[in-house]
Amino acid sequence: MPTDEIAIDIPLIDHHCHGVVPQDLDQTKFEALMSESYRPPPPGTSQFDKPLGLIVRRFCAPMLDLEPFCTGEEYVERRKVLGAEEVNRRLLTACGLSDLVVDTGHRSDSIADVPMMADLAGRPSHEVVRIEAVAEQVARTGVSAAEFPRAFADELAERAKTAVGLKTIVAYRVTFDIDQTPPTKDEIAKGTDRWFSANMSAGKVRLGEVDVVRHGLWVGAELCRDLKLPLQIHVGFGDPDIYMHACDPTHFTDYLRAMEAWEVNCTLLHNYPFQREAAWLAEIFQNVYYDVGVILNFAGPQAASIMGEALEMGPFTKQLYSSDAFGLTELYYLGQLQFRRVLKQQLDRWIAEDMCNVAEADRIVAMIATQNSRRIYSLGD
Ligand SMILES: [Zn+2]
Repeated sequence: MPTDEIAIDIPLIDHHCHGVVPQDLDQTKFEALMSESYRPPPPGTSQFDKPLGLIVRRFCAPMLDLEPFCTGEEYVERRKVLGAEEVNRRLLTACGLSDLVVDTGHRSDSIADVPMMADLAGRPSHEVVRIEAVAEQVARTGVSAAEFPRAFADELAERAKTAVGLKTIVAYRVTFDIDQTPPTKDEIAKGTDRWFSANMSAGKVRLGEVDVVRHGLWVGAELCRDLKLPLQIHVGFGDPDIYMHACDPTHFTDYLRAMEAWEVNCTLLHNYPFQREAAWLAEIFQNVYYDVGVILNFAGPQAASIMGEALEMGPFTKQLYSSDAFGLTELYYLGQLQFRRVLKQQLDRWIAEDMCNVAEADRIVAMIATQNSRRIYSLGD
């Protein structure tokens, strides 16, 4: 039966998200999780006074039985009274999600794991394994530099068996502006030596050695090819310690092209401020997908223009939904709310300008909300 409203409330596959913090949070910890920076805001100011803070107070406050636009202090106080578990359940079950695809590679000891996320959300949840996190775990076991390349490849293969995808944060560690060919054995050995001798004695394992990152990229690519897994690639906004200009995904064209030849699907995550470049890459390469996760939350009332750019030329069959929520269940809730709001806003305008109709808009929503993710991830029925 034809309707005159776009069906925007359909279930979503959140193809890139992280666990929530299971414990109660005080004001400082809550505000730290509202920030992309490692630094606190200037003394006397609050993270609630920015676009994300405004929409937390506007849309999440009523979910905790508060008036819209309550203060940040009132919000965090009410959150403590209800308790983290109740808040996490309330907001997660209100998201209207079909499936969660959870990245377990970032601060995994302080956030909910995949089974706990499935329990809180009441929805099937699946794991994506972060390549660089596995490398660091293997380095921490005390293997020698000589043993590392093989031990890492074995462990990643083991972890990939139960994952629905792999993920790389190459952009954050060494930028996209690198040699994108497979490293030689000699390069891997020398890179591992440099990494181990510079870090292990100081008790640090943070992987920032370019030839070891390249080794991870190609070991991961082989697994993705053999197991038919997509490879998620962090792009642009999403981590504070980056050189943003070199995180433009068009620097990574050679690797994306190589993955196309291997029939490995690559999903470009977040992308801001490179959503136009990401959409262009998705137009060019058969294997490239993209989303505008996380930034729709951080842009608050201004998010529609970013979705507008993401829709400029990107095939409807290539965009995906993600919240990229980390730590705060509010980011899950707002992610889907913002996505539905701004996608509907753009499509309503197309309909008003007679460039689209409701039936076509419904098809576009369904593709981005679930169909594209379901096509490239093996999520079961
Ligand atoms: Zn993320």
